[in-house]
Amino acid sequence: MSQSDIDIAIVGCGIVGAILALGLLKSNQAQPRTKLTIRVYEQTAVPREYGAGIGFTTATRKCMALMDERIADCVGVVATLNGEPENPDYSMRFVDGFRTFPVPQDEGYEDVSIHGKVYKLYVGPRGFEGCHRAQFLEKIMKLMPEGIVQFKKRVEGFEYLDSGRVRLDFADGEQTECDLVIACDGIRSRMRELLFTSAYNAQYTHQLAFRGLVPMDAAIQKLSRYRALRQHMQCGPNAHIMHFPVAKQQLMNVVAFVQDPNEWSSTSMTAPAQKSEVVGAFREWGPFVRALIDLLPENLDKWAVFDTYECPIPRYAERRVALAGDAAHAASPHHGAGAGMGVEDALALVVALTRARADVDRGVAVGKTLEAALKAYSKVRYERSQWVVRSSRQLGWTFEWMNPDVGAEMDRAFADIRDRSHQVWHFKVEGMVAEVEREYHRVL
Ligand SMILES: Cc1cc2nc3c(=O)[nH]c(=O)nc-3n(C[C@H](O)[C@H](O)[C@H](O)COP(=O)(O)OP(=O)(O)OC[C@H]3O[C@@H](n4cnc5c(N)ncnc54)[C@H](O)[C@@H]3O)c2cc1C
Repeated sequence: MSQSDIDIAIVGCGIVGAILALGLLKSNQAQPRTKLTIRVYEQTAVPREYGAGIGFTTATRKCMALMDERIADCVGVVATLNGEPENPDYSMRFVDGFRTFPVPQDEGYEDVSIHGKVYKLYVGPRGFEGCHRAQFLEKIMKLMPEGIVQFKKRVEGFEYLDSGRVRLDFADGEQTECDLVIACDGIRSRMRELLFTSAYNAQYTHQLAFRGLVPMDAAIQKLSRYRALRQHMQCGPNAHIMHFPVAKQQLMNVVAFVQDPNEWSSTSMTAPAQKSEVVGAFREWGPFVRALIDLLPENLDKWAVFDTYECPIPRYAERRVALAGDAAHAASPHHGAGAGMGVEDALALVVALTRARADVDRGVAVGKTLEAALKAYSKVRYERSQWVVRSSRQLGWTFEWMNPDVGAEMDRAFADIRDRSHQVWHFKVEGMVAEVEREYHRVL
């Protein structure tokens, strides 16, 4: 490390921390005089992601590509197309999964067709690509140079030093110093708690997500090829259930959301679950939904859905410490956009810190440029990402006919889904980049 290097610590090596590190490292390739030295501190022993699906929008992939083309390529490699592999289907489908059918007295229902209107939402070519999470993180980590990530390093505390630098304290008793900290430590962020107190911890939304994988052959046999290979969201009272193909169409991922009046007391956000819990929750739904649930394995996982809807932090940065990804704005998963927001954050940080570094090259004080970069980042990213936190909750209510403005009217529900989704998808990435640069120069 030379005297003029800027020493950046990233806390957490989830999707956002890893992508941010790669974006910052790539910016060094332009051979600036001042280099960014990157260290990522991860509490686990190895990179870890759950084996579930995650979708990325075109805007998210564009942000990835602007940081490093290879990151966006990783999505393409592991993504599973919706529909037939040789004839992809670029629409999401929303249906009323509840009405139309009385519960059959005997459970020997045969008719599993979808009756009523199918609402199609066009996402555009490769507009929302679904990947296996663990596979995506594994690909990304292959791009990470040796020695950047230090595992088994849980950050417990930090302190500003008189020099302006920041000291990080690890759970193992070790310490390190750096010029800047970016905390990407997820929904249960320790750094958020240290900066803003535990009053801002993410809260349980009283919703459970049951998740299971079904062999595609079995799904096709029971639900028909056309429906099994295409994403569908089944809406209804106080619950909703979606399915989409994963693992290159070999498996169907099923996620069933149900309201839960109880508190979530476990320290883990997941717990083992039984199929019977899902069967019970959807007992009175239409035959397609019950046939879908019938396909699930006996042993499932359930995830407690948490978010920061009720306790938004007031800003994303203080002096030389910033929060990004779920640490800054944890959303419920109904927009499928939480990681996407984190990727947008990462690009905004790369742009702001590239400007800061250029000014350090011109002789401006490091502290001044870094604080200006974080202020610009926080200002530009706050409104949109907080809107996504709120809208994700509201979209969940729409799916579950709990939105008082929409009720159980599927035409109105679909209009709400379409408008909210477009606001997430049709994002002007270049506009954000320009805004970060403007804001940086304004506050410097
Ligand atoms: C059911 C569900 C479906 C979803 N679907 C989508 C989707 O389709 N599209 C989408 O964009 N988003 C989706 N999301 C949201 C997305 O999963 C999250 O927004 C994203 O994973 C957050 O990434 P992150 O890197 O900020 O946090 P995390 O992935 O939680 O990573 C945080 C990392 O920090 C580490 N860490 C934590 N504390 C410390 C510490 N003190 N010291 C060191 N390391 C620490 C952790 O071990 C972890 O590796 C979904 C979420 C759920 C629950």
